[in-house]
Amino acid sequence: MVYLDYSATTPVGYEVLDTYNRTNKDFFGNPNSLHELGVKAKNLMNSATKQIAEIFSVNENEITYTNGATSSNNIAILGVALQNHKRGQHIITSKLEHPSVYAICNYLESIGFEISYVKNDSEGLIDFEDLKSLIRPDTILVTICAVNSETGVRQPLKMIRQIVKKENPNTIIHSDMTQAVGKVSVNFHDVDLATFTGHKIYGPKGIGVLYKNSNITLTPILYGSGSVNMLNPGTPPVPLIVALSKAVRLATTDIEKRERFIERLNLKIVDALSKYEGVMINKTKYTIPHILNISLRNIKAETFLHALEENEIYVSTNTACSSGNMSQSVLAIYNDKVRASSTLRISLSHLTTTEEVNKFITTFDSIYKKLSGLHE
Ligand code: PLP
Repeated sequence: MVYLDYSATTPVGYEVLDTYNRTNKDFFGNPNSLHELGVKAKNLMNSATKQIAEIFSVNENEITYTNGATSSNNIAILGVALQNHKRGQHIITSKLEHPSVYAICNYLESIGFEISYVKNDSEGLIDFEDLKSLIRPDTILVTICAVNSETGVRQPLKMIRQIVKKENPNTIIHSDMTQAVGKVSVNFHDVDLATFTGHKIYGPKGIGVLYKNSNITLTPILYGSGSVNMLNPGTPPVPLIVALSKAVRLATTDIEKRERFIERLNLKIVDALSKYEGVMINKTKYTIPHILNISLRNIKAETFLHALEENEIYVSTNTACSSGNMSQSVLAIYNDKVRASSTLRISLSHLTTTEEVNKFITTFDSIYKKLSGLHE
């Protein structure tokens, strides 16, 4: 099997799974319980949180566990909207967000909030002048992802923060960092709220993080017994949390070295695919090498995906969560419906081998020739 869909999800790391299993067995107490078993579980959970907080240079009480990035995005964006609606009802986002962010924005729009979509240039970079001009006294939130999940375009969050806070210091900044954490270095201090998920960083599925700067107040969208966590009440999943902290530590180690290796694999694929007239490489100055997006002229991406699958090679058409639709991100960058209508996302990892890349390239060649009617 050649798995080239690491941006959809990653296999759980062996050490991470081991940590999960051991914690489940030896620390099964409810951290909300007052007795010894509860205290033991709570202490372990707290040390896992301390480790995550240290890695991102934030405070432990700024970390909230959720069940994934979709949940974190909901708790963050809805929480800002509910908390600040009397101050303003204007939210700015980009055209390069994950469907979960759009779904929340669409909902907020349906109940009276105003959503503005900041322009981006032909490299996928947010248009800073447009952003500046969109910020108003009633802008309560700017939400812009760190790395676009379909194309890998990375945004300069520090710069975005400077622009936003200069125009309106009360505007809160949220960033969905799901495709950035573990791939490139991130700085939570560039934003007020940040989101990521365990299953994209070789961690378990079903656990995500919301970083919330302690100066920000969110209205909770979930209610229950909040003894440990006000924003996501209920029994904390201690084994998932402890396993996540291991995954975060492993994924944030050797980031640059891994990136250089992945860049070489990426270039090898780009080099091989550039020779096809009917293939467009959707790569710009700002794309990270872990995600390689291509468009196919006159071949349906889904047909190509299944042909690769028959050879046990796995890739995505746009994001796993929006398969079947036109790629909104490719459309936003290239403003070309044909280019956006048939896209494949090949996503790479430090676990990807040169042999796997070679197999992908040769298989791609034979499928391409077959499907485009070019026979040798
Ligand atoms: N945000 C981004 C940028 C993503 O790539 C994804 C997953 O594809 C999500 C959010 C959703 O994450 P989860 O599956 O943990 O809800």
